[in-house]
Amino acid sequence: MQVTCPNCGARYAVDPLAIGPTGRTVQCARCSHRWYERPAPLAAVAPPPPRPVPDFVIRPPTYNSGLPALATPPPKTQWGQWLSIAGLAVVVLVIAAYAFRGEILAVLPSEWRDALHIDTLRSLFRQ
Ligand SMILES: [Zn+2]
Repeated sequence: MQVTCPNCGARYAVDPLAIGPTGRTVQCARCSHRWYERPAPLAAVAPPPPRPVPDFVIRPPTYNSGLPALATPPPKTQWGQWLSIAGLAVVVLVIAAYAFRGEILAVLPSEWRDALHIDTLRSLFRQ
């Protein structure tokens, strides 16, 4: 607000908060005149324009910033998938061995035929 000395007409820009809600005694710096300055009417005291609020900024946590770090969980081993693949491979091998049993027996050495008891097993399934 603007304060004017009634004695010499000097003008001063004064913070309305310094005058207060009930007014106060002020002194002119030029002529040392003292008077009681009343507070400015409310319409004269314009509220400050609203300041624009900046957008909310998210920054990545830096080292030693006091924020918890996000830990990456270890990758899960998919045992079920590996077991199903191994089981499928065993089934394919058994089917192939049964399909090519004649060729396998023809090239199998006689010591292996005795060790595996293949002739005994064949006689059991011929019943
Ligand atoms: Zn004055």
